[in-house]
Parts: sequence; C-alpha cells; structure tokens
Amino acid sequence: MLSSLPHSSAPTDTDVLIVGAGPTGLTLACDLARRGVPHRIIERAPHANDASKAKTIQPRALEVLDDLGAAPLVLQRGVVDLPVRFHDAGGAVTDRPSMSVRAAESFHSPYSDPVWVGQFDVEEALRRRLADFGGAVEYGLAAVGLEQDDDGATVTVASDRGEQRIRTRYVVAADGGKSGLRKLAGLPLTGETYEDQRWYLGDVTIAGLDRDHMHIWTSESGMIGLTPLPSSDLWQLQSPIRPEDEPGEPSLALYQAMLDERAGVGVVVLTSATWLSVYRVNVRMVEHYRRRRLFLAGDAAHVHSPAGGQGMNTGVQDAYNLGWKLAARIDGADDSLLDTYESERLPVARAVLDDSTRKMQRTTATVTGSSGNGLSTALAGIADDVTTGLPISYPDSPLTLHSPQQHATPVRPGDRAPDANGLRRAGTTSSLFDLLRGPHWTLLTFEHDGPLALDHTETPHLHVHRIGSTPGNDVVDTLGEFARRYQADPGDVLLIRPDGYLAARVRAGEEVDVFAHLTTYRGLGARL
Ligand SMILES: Cc1cc2nc3c(=O)[nH]c(=O)nc-3n(C[C@H](O)[C@H](O)[C@H](O)COP(=O)(O)OP(=O)(O)OC[C@H]3O[C@@H](n4cnc5c(N)ncnc54)[C@H](O)[C@@H]3O)c2cc1C
Repeated sequence: MLSSLPHSSAPTDTDVLIVGAGPTGLTLACDLARRGVPHRIIERAPHANDASKAKTIQPRALEVLDDLGAAPLVLQRGVVDLPVRFHDAGGAVTDRPSMSVRAAESFHSPYSDPVWVGQFDVEEALRRRLADFGGAVEYGLAAVGLEQDDDGATVTVASDRGEQRIRTRYVVAADGGKSGLRKLAGLPLTGETYEDQRWYLGDVTIAGLDRDHMHIWTSESGMIGLTPLPSSDLWQLQSPIRPEDEPGEPSLALYQAMLDERAGVGVVVLTSATWLSVYRVNVRMVEHYRRRRLFLAGDAAHVHSPAGGQGMNTGVQDAYNLGWKLAARIDGADDSLLDTYESERLPVARAVLDDSTRKMQRTTATVTGSSGNGLSTALAGIADDVTTGLPISYPDSPLTLHSPQQHATPVRPGDRAPDANGLRRAGTTSSLFDLLRGPHWTLLTFEHDGPLALDHTETPHLHVHRIGSTPGNDVVDTLGEFARRYQADPGDVLLIRPDGYLAARVRAGEEVDVFAHLTTYRGLGARL
C-alpha cells in the first residue's frame, strides 16, 4: 500500500506492478495473488469503475474466471438469454432470439452460454476474489513516469499526496486504450480511427420498460438500443451518430430527445444517468507486447470495434496467459518464457481486430433505416464460435511440443483442454476442470499403470493423475467422457499448462522428452 510521504522518492519494492484496475489488471492481480507473487495494482481513478461498458462475458473468459473463483458472482448477477425486441418507426414490434449464441457442443465447456452482465459486475467479482487472496487495488495513484534498466523498472506514481517512485521487477500496463505507459515506452498503437463510427453511450434508468428484452428502435436517423443490465435498474443506451452530424454533448436531455424522435414522445422516459459518453471506433494494436521489463495487456495493447463483444474478454485472457509466466520467471524460469506471451497473444489480437472489423462493417449499413430487417440479420451473425474464445489455440508456440508419432486427435498440442465429466477420485465424482483448477501444471496418463519417469518431480506445481476405466486407477473415467473427448489410447500422456492449454501429448516413456523440452529448452524447471 502507498505509505504516505509527499514527494517521497524512496523505492517501494515489489515484483510486479500492475497499472490499471480494469478487467485485465484485476485478472492478473488475482492470478498473481493466488500464486503468492508480490505485486501491487494501482488505479488512477479514485474509486472502482461504475460504467457498464462490456455487457457480455464469453465462455472462455468464464472458464478463466472459474479457475480464479470469480465465476459464481458473475453467473449470479448475469442472465443467459436476452431476446431482442425490434420496434420499427411505425410502432410495429418484432421479437428475435438473443444475439448471443451457445458455443458448439464439441468444445465441451461447462460455460457454453455467453452471459449478459455489466463489466462493473465482472470487475466486482474479480475485486472480491482479489480480497479473498489478500490483495487490494490502490486507488487514486496514476503512473506518470517509467525508467527501465537491466534489473527492473522504476515507475513514478502521482497522487493527491504527491509523487512516489515504485521500484519493481516487472511492470504490466493494463491502463486501457489510451495507455500512458505504452506511450512512455514508445510503443505505437498502429491502425485506423473510424471517424464515421461514433456512438452515443450511457447507463440510464427508465420508467416502466420491460426488462426481459434488449429493445432496439429503428429509424432513418439511426437505431437506438437499450440493453437491461441484469441485477441493477440500469440500461445501457447505444445510438450511432450519423457521419454528417457533429456529436452534441451527451446528456439525459439529448438522449431523451433522440428517443422521443425515434420511439415516439413519452414512449420511453429516461429518469437518470450514471454514465454518459461518446465513443469513437479505433481499430489499432501494438506490434510488440513487451519492452524490456514492461508488458502490455488488454486495451493497452489492442482496441477495436465492440462488434462481437471481444475487448474485455481478450484482456482477461491476455492477463491469464501472462500471470503464470511472470510467476514462473520470478521463480527462476528462463526469461524466454516471457517472450511467449507476445508470440501467443499478439496473433489472437490480430484475429480479433479482423473479425470485429468485418462484423462492424456488415452492421454499419443497417443501423439506419426504418425497417429492422437488415439490422436484425446483421446482429444475428455477430456472435459465433469465434467470439466464444474457445477455439483459440497456440499450435506454433515454442511451448507446444509436437510428438513425431502424434496421431490425428480432436485435441492437439496447443489446443485448449476441453472438460470431461464423471471422473471418480477418492470417493467423489468431479470433472477434469476440477482437477485442472488452480495454479499448477497437470500431467494425465490414460490406462497406464507402469512407472512414470517423472513421478519424483511432482511438486505443488505439477499434479499427476492416472486416469483409466477401471477402479485400479487413481481417477476412474466412469462415463468414458475423457477417453472419448481426448480420443485417448492406453499409454497416452498429456501435459496441460496452468492456463488450460495442452502443452504435449506423448506415449508413456516419452514423458522424459516433454520435461527435457520444457526444462532445458524453455527453462521451466524451477516451477516443475
Ligand atoms: C459500449 C462498449 C461496449 C463494449 N462491449 C464489450 C463486450 O460486450 N464484450 C467485451 O469483451 N468488451 C466490450 N467492450 C470493451 C471493454 O469495455 C474493454 O475492452 C475493457 O474495458 C478493457 O479492459 P482493460 O482492463 O484492458 O482496460 P480498461 O477497462 O480501460 O481499464 C484500464 C484502467 O486503467 C486505469 N488507468 C489508466 N491510466 C492509468 C494510469 N496512468 N495509472 C493508473 N491507472 C490508469 C483506468 O482508469 C482504467 O480503470 C465494450 C466497450 C464499450 C465502450
């Protein structure tokens, strides 16, 4: 915590300084806190964010929150099904299904459905978990300076009590799209600003509108969308600004006038607003995620259209990819492990930018027009398996070990490990995700009762489970789901990373090669 001293330049030592307490910074803080990594998380604002911003959390980000123990509150606050009610200029109403779509069964996720929930609730769930782990956000502290050397970084932090310098081994810029640290490090955010893509946004309260639907009014002046934010009395208002119009100052009166014009006078009555904003679409990203001791994560590294709802979800996954690697490095792993953060996550951001821009362009032409048909069709295609985050895979990562004998299987090295139910162990039945949950690596063998060359290396950082169909195994695959989903053959050995991706799939006897790969080539020995 900030000790006090105005204008103090005394160093405050920590291993990781996280700048920014949005969903990205909070995810990283939870992951480091549960691993016992000394860290601090500072936030420029004087209090927690209370703007809704993102309103859907996707299946893969929910899996991450599950691992961190933050999913239950998000599920409790959110809703799965939010059908859309289109109101046309003539007052006719058409009901359509929810824009979010269930992930394909083949991903075998316990969280197949995206959840509608305000970003503030996701952040609150993460803050509560951080508190459970003994951590806390330090509010009212803004990073304003950065110096780096071979051993660490010094970040100058300003508050209303003056400035202090924080000495840290690593800095993570989770300070959003306008990231000051990114600028201080000279990492440009290259891409395009879409001047014609500007939106009025706000969180408003409304008298007497049905909260079981997202409502969209279509008109020649542009649509207005109102999305109920579950577990609150708020609605998120979104309306495009026509390219030829100069945006007015967002206000309750302006939004009421727009609604009166498009929905009819007095049809929807706004009663208050907690957030009013104008948003301009930028499609930009950095070319590097790392500069020496500084890492960029979330919006600090990539910004794009909200079409498809990927921003918060990608930031959460950036942080989850980086957390275990920072912990391992601090515990003695080779520095090159940290370079895999960029090599794995940068292509993901590039794909998200491409996908969300394509979807934005498909939707743009339909946001004006008195009939909702075009808009309804465009919005129906905005969510798909890509937006769930579940297909993300790192096959080309240096951390992924491809075995020469590898046969075609549905789960290949680099892929996300799917869940499997009906695993019976020590008298209780659980799922594979129950075995994976936690900060450790996991080694699974299938139908293998011979010795393992690495049993002696088992540490708190590596859990080993022998799975099989008969009671002699330490985990019994009672439903055969593990065998089917992984197309596991007797003698298969699978190594799963702390972030739930398959690192290697080999035959019993070859596990030594796996560890040779990971310990000498990647230098992960200390954590295993
Ligand atoms: C209308 C709208 C709808 C959206 N819908 C979705 C959606 O459905 N799904 C989705 O996934 N995403 C969506 N997004 C995007 C999502 O809101 C962002 O991607 C997300 O907020 C990024 O999280 P972050 O933690 O990286 O950055 P931020 O949430 O921007 O957090 C950065 C934090 O850093 C702090 N900070 C900045 N500078 C400093 C400094 N110098 N020192 C200390 N602290 C600092 C800021 O105050 C802020 O709290 C939407 C966004 C908008 C605007």
